[in-house]
Parts: sequence; C-alpha cells; structure tokens
Amino acid sequence: MYEREKQAIIDAALEIKAAGLIHMTGGNISVRMPNGHIIVTPSGMPYETMVPDELIVVDANGNKIEGEYRASVDTVALLHIFKNIPEVNAIIHTHQPYATAVGLITDELPACTTTLCNACGGSVFVAPYSSAASLDMGVKAVENLKGRKAVILKHHGVIAVGANLAEALFSAIYLEDSAKTYLAARAAARNGKVDILTGEEADAAVEVFKDYGQKPK
Ligand code: 13P
Ligand code: ZN
Repeated sequence: MYEREKQAIIDAALEIKAAGLIHMTGGNISVRMPNGHIIVTPSGMPYETMVPDELIVVDANGNKIEGEYRASVDTVALLHIFKNIPEVNAIIHTHQPYATAVGLITDELPACTTTLCNACGGSVFVAPYSSAASLDMGVKAVENLKGRKAVILKHHGVIAVGANLAEALFSAIYLEDSAKTYLAARAAARNGKVDILTGEEADAAVEVFKDYGQKPK
C-alpha cells in the first residue's frame, strides 16, 4: 500500500539529512492520505537503508493498518497535529541546530528574511518545552503553529508542516537557513539588534510565494 508515497517520504528524509537537519536516526516524517490513513516512519531506523515496506500505516487514532515495525515514538503527537489542523497533510520533525538555538534565546524567530516568509508564512514561534514521545509535544505544537508552517520545539527541534511533503520540506529547510542568518546577524550586531521586515513587507513576501514555481496550464 502507498509504495510511491512511502518512497517520497524516504527521499525527503535523506534530503533533510543531507541538509544537516537530522543525524543518525533522528526526527521523523508523516503524511496523511486523502482517505485519512497516515504513513509514519519507523522508530529509530536508519534512513539510508530504509525501504517502503518498513514504513507504518495507521488510522487517525493510531491503530496500525500496515507495517511490522514500531511507528515513531512521536506518533501520538503527530496524530494530534493532523487531527487539529485539517489543512496539514505532511509533518517533518527535525533536530535542526540553528532553529533550535533560536528557541533557546527568544520566543519568536522574527520575519528577518523573505525566504522565511515565503516558506513558513511569516515569523516562527517557539513552543514551551515538552518531552519527545508525549501528547504534550503535539498539543504545544498546535498551540504555537498559529497558522505558520513551522514551530520550534524548545530544547528539542522543529515541527515543519505543509499541505503536502514538498511544502513541509521547504519550510524545514528555509527555516534553518533563516535561523542561521538571524543568529549570524545577532552575533555580529554591536547591540544584538537585528533589522526585521515590516508587517507589510512580510505579508507581501507570504503572498508572492503563493504563485511560485510552475502551475498547470
Ligand atoms: P523516532 O525515531 O521514534 O521517530 O524518534 C525520533 C525523534 O526525533 C523523537 O523526537
Ligand atoms: Zn525528536
């Protein structure tokens, strides 16, 4: 079942690994199918050798439909996000270091680059600490996504979301890029003050990305 979608998840996992957003077997990826089934990566398994059959399919309540391995320990949190945000169909959870570092010094990564607005829909908020593998992780993620396509999990990492896997990938990768830029600017600024986009500029950068790329003719 869902061979093509499972392979796309493995490809995305290899891409976030290549981008330095995870190491070893960290993080996880989950995708909701139109019929409500959710495909989740298996817990603690290497992505390099992963094959589609190793992914797990569950229903909205976490009942296993297919797969022999244990699903990600964060499944309870991921299901909470899918249940509470109908427009989210893909979730990428990472341990990306720069965005996580931002979460240790502020409650919001401000709209400091157009790419952050393009990919994440504006500034990105920091959720208070929650343990991995807890429902609380999902509850705090939902509370702090606030319409954006990513949330920073304090002391842990990032949850990036999208209507599809490509959107979630854009969000995770460009959030890291912008977090790096923000921290470099803060470190270099004499008083730590960083210029950010005005509300109007940020909104325009969100709008412009809605028409980005190729559209069916
Ligand atoms: P899993 O391999 O079980 O998904 O755990 C990784 C992780 O990042 C937990 O937060
Ligand atoms: Zn994690």
